[in-house]
Amino acid sequence: MLELRDITKAFGDIVAVNHLDLEVKKGEFFIILGPTGAGKTTTLRITIGLEKPDSGKVLYEGQDITQLSPPLRDFAFMFESHNLYPVLNVYDNLAFPLRSPLFKVPESEVKKRVEAIADELHITHLLPRRVSHLSGGEQQRVALGRALIRRPKIYILDEPISSLDYKLREELQTEFKRIHEEYGITILSATHDNVSAMAMASRIGIMENGRILQVGAPRDIYTNPMSVSVARIIGAPSMNFIDCVVGETSLWMHGHQEFVIPLSPPIVGILRRELKGQGRILVGIWPEDIMVSEKIQEGYLKALVENIEYHGAERFVNLALGESPLKALLIRNCVPKHGAEIFVFLPEEKLYFFHPQNGLRIYVQLGRNGHYAF
Ligand code: ATP
Repeated sequence: MLELRDITKAFGDIVAVNHLDLEVKKGEFFIILGPTGAGKTTTLRITIGLEKPDSGKVLYEGQDITQLSPPLRDFAFMFESHNLYPVLNVYDNLAFPLRSPLFKVPESEVKKRVEAIADELHITHLLPRRVSHLSGGEQQRVALGRALIRRPKIYILDEPISSLDYKLREELQTEFKRIHEEYGITILSATHDNVSAMAMASRIGIMENGRILQVGAPRDIYTNPMSVSVARIIGAPSMNFIDCVVGETSLWMHGHQEFVIPLSPPIVGILRRELKGQGRILVGIWPEDIMVSEKIQEGYLKALVENIEYHGAERFVNLALGESPLKALLIRNCVPKHGAEIFVFLPEEKLYFFHPQNGLRIYVQLGRNGHYAF
């Protein structure tokens, strides 16, 4: 439906978008997820037509719209600084896009649509209020309403909720998802907030340094990140990375030959082949995949408890495994104390292997059940 083809855009020496390719399908909620400065806003501005790319094309249903002005594209957009009209009341702000000479919507229809969207977003009571008198969260809802009031071809939202407090963010996250599903609309959005991206997106495009690194359904990227950068950007909490050494027949933590991570011989063979002999490797594991025990068990490594972190209903323990910091999800009956010894097991089938230099994943073949196939 919407395609960005080989887009490049530089501001002086800064290459904000670098040979970027992206495709958004009809009806999907596509979120570009990346750290600050990745080039997300520039990509969205190019899509809307507020910025012209140095090279590359924007296509909508196969038509080249790269040179088309924003109103002719008929894309609705909403930016973090939402550009509401502070002196107008909420009603007139919501009505504004419909009153554009381009659409010529009769005033009776404007009234019907404003009231419907206000009801939808629970802001009917705010309609007579001046926007400058509203809280940040209320303004955000009005901005969302203004974007949603038309039925444009596509909605472009830049950091639509990331500046809000946690509770409002959660609320609007649910609202966005519901509106997306109910209206069957197409949304292209950008954020640095991996939690909301994971919760809302049909597909995510991971962006860094002006490039899209990986595209996929949130869960697929999470379980199958193609590089250290992707794993760092998608995870909250982040993936653990352990600097290791691949030996003749086993894997151990760098600087700690006593911390052996048991691996089956075929996997060691694959890693040695990829590394062209033995050598350093970065091993990744998600916090929820580490097995934690307060008692020593076969194959478990000894670590020290640094502190416990509460994330809603979940508890994570921060550990020191040699010099490596490690975060693990705790199961309910495990209540370790600060400074206590604890034992961790890193199951082979849950490990991710990355090249230490370029951070790219070293794939070991997986069977149908997600476990290694030998
Ligand atoms: P954030 O999450 O902080 O909004 P972003 O991923 O949206 O970041 P962009 O705003 O697209 O990133 O910026 C990408 C790079 O381009 C940054 O280094 C930024 O400083 C630079 N940049 C963006 N717009 C301009 C401009 N008009 N002039 C000069 N440099 C710019």
